[in-house]
Amino acid sequence: MQKVIVIDTDGVLRNFHSKLQKVYRKYYPDFKNPLTITSYCLRDWFPIGDKIYDFIYKEHPKEIFLNALPYPGAQEFVKTLQQKYKVVIATSQPQESARKYTQLWYEKFKFDADDFIYIDEKWKIGGWILIEDSPHQMELAAEHKSFSNIIPFLQVWNRQWFLEKRQSLTTLKNPKEYKTFLSILTPQDNYRIILNYLGLGKPLKITLKE
Ligand SMILES: [Mg+2]
Repeated sequence: MQKVIVIDTDGVLRNFHSKLQKVYRKYYPDFKNPLTITSYCLRDWFPIGDKIYDFIYKEHPKEIFLNALPYPGAQEFVKTLQQKYKVVIATSQPQESARKYTQLWYEKFKFDADDFIYIDEKWKIGGWILIEDSPHQMELAAEHKSFSNIIPFLQVWNRQWFLEKRQSLTTLKNPKEYKTFLSILTPQDNYRIILNYLGLGKPLKITLKE
């Protein structure tokens, strides 16, 4: 039986965060992108705090969820994993508006997978590997032991969490290339590192951002 890899959507395949900041700036032109983001929680990124969730889910779901771009190489990353594994693309969109436009987004950008699952808590899917950027989802999956391995998709918003937890969560994988996360990895670097870790990669060429 093929092993199952579950891949999260926002922050892993879809550049939701950059689109959200662009749309936000359209309505709040004085907004400057936060220079240092250490929190996964969106209310910490924007001056309107908790109202950011209405801004996303009630006021601008189409503009954000349908028009955000995939990270470069995202579809190829999924396709390469599919050569060897059963791939499930998952998203934990809590709101119907986001689910609808996310489904259209997968079609628009031609994402192919063995299954697409919309679920609040991804640990419930279970499988061999979970690829995820949310500290909360990774902690739940580790707690419930429903995945044999958790590969964090490293982003600025989970960097601090990763540095703190990488020794303590036994299912959390720490490929040796992640030491470069002391600088910042691009999504493409994450794709390359993960494929290499699974023996599917071409030789690694890491691009570090300042
Ligand atoms: Mg995510």
